[in-house]
Order: sequence, then C-alpha cells, then structure tokens
Amino acid sequence: MPPVILTLVAIVIPVYRESRNLVLLHQRLNLVCGALSEYHFHFIFVNDGSPDDSLEVLRGLAYADSRVHVLDLSRNFGKEIALTAGVHAAESADAVICIDADLQHPPELIPTLIARWREGYDVVATVRTEIDRQPLLKRVGSHVFYWLMRRISGVTMVSQTTDFRLYDRRVVQAFMQATERQRMFRGIMDWMGFRRVYVEFQAGARTQGEAGYSYSKLIGLAINSITAFSLWPLRLTGYLGLLITLSSGMLLLWMLGNFLLHGRFDYTPLAMAVVANTFLIGVVLMAIGLVALYIGTIHTEVINRPLYVIRERIHAPSGGTSP
Ligand code: UDP
Ligand code: MG
Repeated sequence: MPPVILTLVAIVIPVYRESRNLVLLHQRLNLVCGALSEYHFHFIFVNDGSPDDSLEVLRGLAYADSRVHVLDLSRNFGKEIALTAGVHAAESADAVICIDADLQHPPELIPTLIARWREGYDVVATVRTEIDRQPLLKRVGSHVFYWLMRRISGVTMVSQTTDFRLYDRRVVQAFMQATERQRMFRGIMDWMGFRRVYVEFQAGARTQGEAGYSYSKLIGLAINSITAFSLWPLRLTGYLGLLITLSSGMLLLWMLGNFLLHGRFDYTPLAMAVVANTFLIGVVLMAIGLVALYIGTIHTEVINRPLYVIRERIHAPSGGTSP
C-alpha cells in the first residue's frame, strides 16, 4: 500500500501568561482536530516569555502529545513577533491557522476555516460579531483605528477581524519575505492581498487570566501600524505649512495693498510683525514637509517590504504539496 500523504495544517498559538487556559485549549483542539482525519496537525505553541508556569504546562502537553511543538522565546517580544516566530516555524505546512490561547477564538471554527480554504481561498479570516463585556473605550478605539487605517493607508482592513485566521502556504511563503522589524502581523498579511473570505463568530469574554494588551500597548500598536503603512502623518506638516503660508501671505498682501491704495498705514506695527512672523512659520513648516518627503522615501526603503507578491506561478516547477 502506498504511503498516504496527509495535508499538514499547523496551528500557531502565541502564549503569554496563559497557564490556566492551555490544558482546556489543548483538549478542545484535540477534539476538533481528531475529527478531521484527512489532515495531520501540528500545534505550535509560542511561549512569549510568560512569567507564569505556561512553559511547564506546555512541556507537559508536548510530552503527552507528539503533535505539540513548543517555541520558547527568550523574553516577551509581544504577540506580533510571537505570531511571526510561530508562522516561520510552520513554513512547511500546507496551511497555517493562528489562534489566541485565551479561548476567545473558538477552536470549533477550525473545520469551517479549513472547508473555506479547500474551496480555494488563500486567507480565511474571522470577524467578531459581538464582543461580550468589551469595555466601551476599547470598542470605540478599535473602530477609530480601522477607520483611520482605511482612510490613510490604502490597505483594506476590515474592522473587527481578528488574528484568528487560516493562511495558505503561498501566503506564508510571501510573508517570509517581509523583513520589517516594527511589525503588525495582520497589517502585513492584509497588505499582501490574496483571495480572502470572512467567517463570522461570536467572541466570548476572556475566562481566565487577564488581557495582555494594556491600553498603552494597544495605542503603541496603532501608532506603529499607521506609521508602517502610511506616510500621511509626515505629509501633514507640509500641508499645514502650505495652508499657513498661503493664508498669512494673503493677509500680508492685503495689508500692503491697503497701504498703497490709501497712502496711510491702518495697522499697528505689532499686527504687521505677527502676520509676517506667521508667514515665516508657514515657510519653515513647508520646508520641514519637504524634508519629510525625503525621509518618507528613506522610510519606505528601510522597511524593505517586497515590491510585489506572486500568488501562483503557472508553468513554473513547483515544490511542496499545494491543495
Ligand atoms: N500574547 C502574547 N504576547 C503578549 C501578549 C499577548 O503572545 O505580549 C498572546 C496571548 O497569550 C493570547 C494572544 O496573544 O494568546 C492575545 O492576547 P490578549 O488576549 O491579551 O489580547 P486581545 O484578546 O485583547 O487581543
Ligand atoms: Mg484575548
């Protein structure tokens, strides 16, 4: 009998202070994945420098279950990097599914994600329809963030999508080329495009432990994403300078015109000085804006993102097993 080659699906789970959720998560993954007999699974847990005993719990799981792989990061790098490390480790898989360890992403959705992938989609993303007990500030903040991102970056990011996603190996291969250091995982994935579909689910509240993302971390992440995907904040100075120069310049002309027409000067020297000064501030801001344009170019070069991403090569010899 020829050996049966099973499709390999890697499940990547970033872990930070989750020791109380891990066993339950593993049980649920085991149940769900056990029922999908035509696939082989790897559970790649990335311990992101948890100060609690998450690593010991993971060791126990790996000892009992050969599908469990553990990557232990040297310190807390943050979820974005933890996810990246996990996905890099899953390079050989036919599909990679990222899922949070805090049970806010139901593993029971995995068969649906796989089914959509089999239909030919490269990215199967999930959308939260309702977040129980999510604080108002977080909800408003996330809406504002997505709105801003869509407006200024040109990257289509759908609001309320989560990191709970399935990526085809083609997407993972392309992701390998991203070298930027300040990264927002989902942002890079969204930037790449590919054929995507959205699946809805209801997020429950965290049952155990506390959210690792404080408001300050979330704000930092938002600022990172905006500066990584858009040069708009840089250009803002230039536009502001232009506006100030034009308006104060016109005011200045008006004052001088008045003087030439009526032969007398109706404005105090102070008013004149203020307007002239504003005009100069405008010129300085424009100059800064100009410098910003060059910095913008350097920024884009330094980020060193691949210029384009190829989804598929037709007639080219292909390696590996694609679905
Ligand atoms: N996480 C991580 N490193 C961190 C913070 C969080 O790996 O520095 C993991 C965490 O264990 C969980 C996932 O990222 O699996 C999501 O974290 P959290 O629930 O705190 O964020 P939220 O649900 O608010 O997005
Ligand atoms: Mg969470």
